[in-house]
Amino acid sequence: MKQIEERIKEIYEEVKQYSPYPEKVKVIAVSKYLTAQEMLPYLETGIITLGENRVQVIQEKYEELSTYPFAKSLEWHFIGNLQKNKVKYIADKVSMIHSVNKLSLAEEINKKMEALGKKMPVLIEVNVSGEESKEGYEVLEAEKDLPKLLNLKNISICGLMTMAPFTEDIEEQRRVFHKLRTLKEDWNEKYFQGSLTELSMGMSNDYKIALQEGATMIRLGRKIFY
Ligand SMILES: *Cc1c(COP(=O)(O)O)cnc(C)c1O
Repeated sequence: MKQIEERIKEIYEEVKQYSPYPEKVKVIAVSKYLTAQEMLPYLETGIITLGENRVQVIQEKYEELSTYPFAKSLEWHFIGNLQKNKVKYIADKVSMIHSVNKLSLAEEINKKMEALGKKMPVLIEVNVSGEESKEGYEVLEAEKDLPKLLNLKNISICGLMTMAPFTEDIEEQRRVFHKLRTLKEDWNEKYFQGSLTELSMGMSNDYKIALQEGATMIRLGRKIFY
């Protein structure tokens, strides 16, 4: 196994190589494959931005890691499908929710954040590939909800997220990522006055293409942890 530090360094070299704006890119270390104990050697190398896709797992890991000196600097990003009735368990723990795919979910996050007196940074998850199986808003459906989403005072919509289809076809991946970037530019003009800054796209199998197409957050699991 390659040294962890070396692997992380390599990823940041690739960010410089592929991204048009490497200084804007954040690597989210998707730790869902590991237990809290297994995560320790990685956290000791200074990884602080973690992605998890299950509410219960975040709760457990958050608790288990809370006694370590680095716990306060950890940033948990929720990247999976989020059920409304579980928002309450993570509202005070995560620093961003990447997967807002329904108005009712956004409203629930807003409500919980209002109770905490805080604002949650969120991304709108868009199904740009059009695959039936994918989570995420259809573009038109999202546009219909945007006026209401923009009215929610305790969420801050800072960008868009998508998952590319599972395919080896690089041009298909590129098409999906390009479409998300174009949508961000379009929405920035029409609805957001430039306040959409983030594009969360790219996983271990397609992050280089996502970087070329302007990703600002890449979500890497297997690439970092295996
Ligand atoms: C698991 C997961 C990832 C990371 O996937 P890898 O292929 O391991 O890099 C990224 N995003 C989401 C939403 C995931 O569930």
